Amino acid sequence: KNDQLDQWDRDNFFHPSTHLGQFARGEAPNRVITGGQGCHITDREGTRLLDAFAGLYCVNVGYGRTEIADAIAEQAHELAYYHAYVGHGTEASITLAKMILDRAPDNMSKVYFGLGGSDANETNVKLIWYYNNILGRPEKKKIISRWRGYHGSGLVTGSLTGLELFHKKFDLPLAQVVHTDAPYYFRRDDLDQTEEQFVAQCVASLEELIEREGADTIAAFIGEPVLGTGGIVPPPAGYWEAIQQVLDRHDILLIADEVVTGFGRLGSMFGSDHYGMRPDIITIAKGLTSAYAPLSGSIVSDKVWQVLEQGTDENGPIGHGWTYSAHPIGAAAGVANLKLLDDLNLITNNHEVGGYLNKAMADALGDHANVGDIRGEGMLCAVEFVKQRDGRQFFDASDKVGPQIAAALLEQGVIARAMPQGDILGFAPPFCLTREEADEVVGKTAKAVQAVLG
Ligand code: PLP
Repeated sequence: KNDQLDQWDRDNFFHPSTHLGQFARGEAPNRVITGGQGCHITDREGTRLLDAFAGLYCVNVGYGRTEIADAIAEQAHELAYYHAYVGHGTEASITLAKMILDRAPDNMSKVYFGLGGSDANETNVKLIWYYNNILGRPEKKKIISRWRGYHGSGLVTGSLTGLELFHKKFDLPLAQVVHTDAPYYFRRDDLDQTEEQFVAQCVASLEELIEREGADTIAAFIGEPVLGTGGIVPPPAGYWEAIQQVLDRHDILLIADEVVTGFGRLGSMFGSDHYGMRPDIITIAKGLTSAYAPLSGSIVSDKVWQVLEQGTDENGPIGHGWTYSAHPIGAAAGVANLKLLDDLNLITNNHEVGGYLNKAMADALGDHANVGDIRGEGMLCAVEFVKQRDGRQFFDASDKVGPQIAAALLEQGVIARAMPQGDILGFAPPFCLTREEADEVVGKTAKAVQAVLG
């Protein structure tokens, strides 16, 4: 045990999404991670943990892939950095842009590279504002997002994020962002409502919002194909088709935030394909490099690109750039990662083992008195706990049932995520998960649930 490292950690490191005081005072645990292989990570004490959340649902190809590590090392030796401004590129960044467009829906035209999901969504909002200014409708600027959506932690993206924790005490959301209902059927107000009626209600409240704000003030709607951080909630049948119709009718662009779902997590390349969405911009990050290096992207459609081109013809080069746009090391990681997904058939495995995991979870926990809902898609799965199934009574937040179950599971060597709102345990393992590992996750989850809830 390295006591000095612990002390340095407490004294110097401002950890994100952390109880700052508790951590600094040593009242909350720290963990120093030293290695990773396949679906497992190892900490400094030598504890091996099955990571059923793939980091932050991002290490999609699994840990320890030498193909990606080698590609990164080669790139670093050859050329660690050059910028991408005014037409500069590297073999890796140009190849990666081509590989992304080959996999994206047909109407997509170009990819703008960033660093992470938050800055990619900031880019998207700026591009859409630019777009509407070029089209001569400067008042069409607001962005609709959904409660429980997660789109990042920046000023505009923290505003888009529909979780109270990300607004409270930060003076967010900004005025240009408005929120609409989450397509969260399990949490519907009226328990007698069918899924179809619930979708109709989501559509009606979106229509009302557009009416209230004025369609000529609304530029875009942003949504994750499957709500992620807000609870891992696949949409009810027909939701995206119905929303798409409303957006088309009011000339509102759609941003599909595929930071989690992009590159295979749902068992298809993009969630947009999966649900029949027709986005104008797609946000990509995590799965683009499987988090071996930071890299994100905004894939823009022909429709948006045409206007951006016109804008720069009239106004000079686009005034939007990051030093690290298309960073060669991120790009090299991306190329190697997308190749690996193909070579090892990982999206197919994801589809099969993800389905197996979801079914096994439902078989093991579906009848438990405190399990209200088990839901998932591809390699995403969530278990939502309730105080009582009958009448769907939720626990009080102060009961901290989700975090307690996650802690009991961690004691058995499996990492799941207590989702930030509600008593929801989330699973998003790497795509290389085996059936045996899926059995282990499910078996230990059942034990953890029993230990906490009986
Ligand atoms: N969008 C979605 C759907 C996400 O899940 C996340 C992060 O979890 C982001 C955007 C923000 O990405 P980042 O944390 O890389 O800035």
